[in-house]
Amino acid sequence: MIIDFHTHYYPAKVVGKALAAVEGRIGHYTDGSRAGLLASMREAKIDYSLALPIATRPANSRGINTWAAAERSENIGLTGSIHPGDPHLPDTLKYIAEQGLPGIKLHPEYQQFDFADERLYPVWERCVELDLFVITHAGCDVMFKPPWHSDPARLAAFHRRFPELKLILAHLGSMEMWDAVETELAGLPVYFDLALLTPDRLPPQRLLAIIRKHGAERILFGTDSPWSPQKAHVDYIRSLPLSEAERELIFHRNAAKLLHL
Ligand SMILES: [Zn+2]
Repeated sequence: MIIDFHTHYYPAKVVGKALAAVEGRIGHYTDGSRAGLLASMREAKIDYSLALPIATRPANSRGINTWAAAERSENIGLTGSIHPGDPHLPDTLKYIAEQGLPGIKLHPEYQQFDFADERLYPVWERCVELDLFVITHAGCDVMFKPPWHSDPARLAAFHRRFPELKLILAHLGSMEMWDAVETELAGLPVYFDLALLTPDRLPPQRLLAIIRKHGAERILFGTDSPWSPQKAHVDYIRSLPLSEAERELIFHRNAAKLLHL
């Protein structure tokens, strides 16, 4: 069984805009639609994908969470999302939990916030109370420029401040900040996903070393489809010399536990 913990697709009315926004910077391997994701899953033999919508403005928080709740099906799950500028954050979180969405997706670069911002502390406390996990973009992102809001030291400090929060860091802890991932984050009780880690971005030996230092019981298979081809990504992770037990944890066991599947 394979669960892809990090995918995206878009409602018909915004899909064109979403693809146009990244034109020339990153490629796309589906047409960005739900049908496109399902076709890609069939090709890659992926059983379940978690899609991660993102609230791009405070005003669209409610709409995006309503959409996410309605889109769920047997083989597609979705997280909710919040925008740090939403004046009704407690209500939005309550709504997400009431809808049965498993967690929230955040992007500190896109949404321009810092995990050290004390004004947001009640949000993270509420996520613990409501048993919502937080999955966040981590590290460099070709669409944005430094200074980064999501580097290993900041993310480690955030985890230490909220040790009970289930925290999932995309892109193996912090995209392209591998030395600091090893020293600051690897081994902490947070999850890393494997989204967007092609061999040219992170060669197999280094990837394997970080997985082993962190522990396979806190690694989640993920692709970042449509920005990465699911099938090639499955093949890459499968090519690593992992044990069968490690492979099962990474491809589905850890994800199934977080998603209560
Ligand atoms: Zn993503």
